[in-house]
Amino acid sequence: MDDNKMRAKNVVKILGKTYPDAPATYLMHGNPFEMLIATILSANTADACINQITPAIFTKYPDAKAMANAEVEDLIELIRQCGTYNKKSVYIRDSARILYERHSGKVPKTMDGLIELPGVSRKTANVVLSVVFGVNEGIVVDTHVMRVSQRLELTKEKKNRTRAEKDLMEVLPRNQWYEYARLIGAHGRRTCSARRPSCKECSINELCPTAGQWG
Ligand code: SF4
Repeated sequence: MDDNKMRAKNVVKILGKTYPDAPATYLMHGNPFEMLIATILSANTADACINQITPAIFTKYPDAKAMANAEVEDLIELIRQCGTYNKKSVYIRDSARILYERHSGKVPKTMDGLIELPGVSRKTANVVLSVVFGVNEGIVVDTHVMRVSQRLELTKEKKNRTRAEKDLMEVLPRNQWYEYARLIGAHGRRTCSARRPSCKECSINELCPTAGQWG
């Protein structure tokens, strides 16, 4: 096993003990439809903000049929406080229409079925597949996974998340893809923060080539 594969394996092992309570997602949801809509809304927006607006959205539009018939102006008002409401209101209304018309109102369980929905990137699809259906189709590379994976030098990619995902898929066995994203997400939020990572307290600092280089 090469060095990066061994380090990646040990990172997952140690972080599993460090964050046994790491949640699968920080987005509140009660079913696959809600998780899909919340994930579309969360693109470039803090999960905390999305969690403030989704209860009202799901009360008014509890399923694909209801949202398919929504007026975009009404959705805009419900999304407004989290920004990018013009695009996202159309994305979720049109996605709901496709779910209703082509999938009997259900969220598809495949990457191909998901990425044809407006506003659904590969990352969005990975989140839904892994959190809702337990399907390891890829690795969710969000801002935390991108930053921490760079610091761990498991990818050299600086911006391209699809290429970073490919690098990570090469060093991690498929059955650890979901765990890696879940645990690195917790690590990025709690220890390896963007501005001031706590390298001294970090449980994986001996596995990190850039430990102590972040001020
Ligand atoms: S040692 Fe520092 S930079 Fe490396 S993973 Fe830990 S907190 Fe992040």
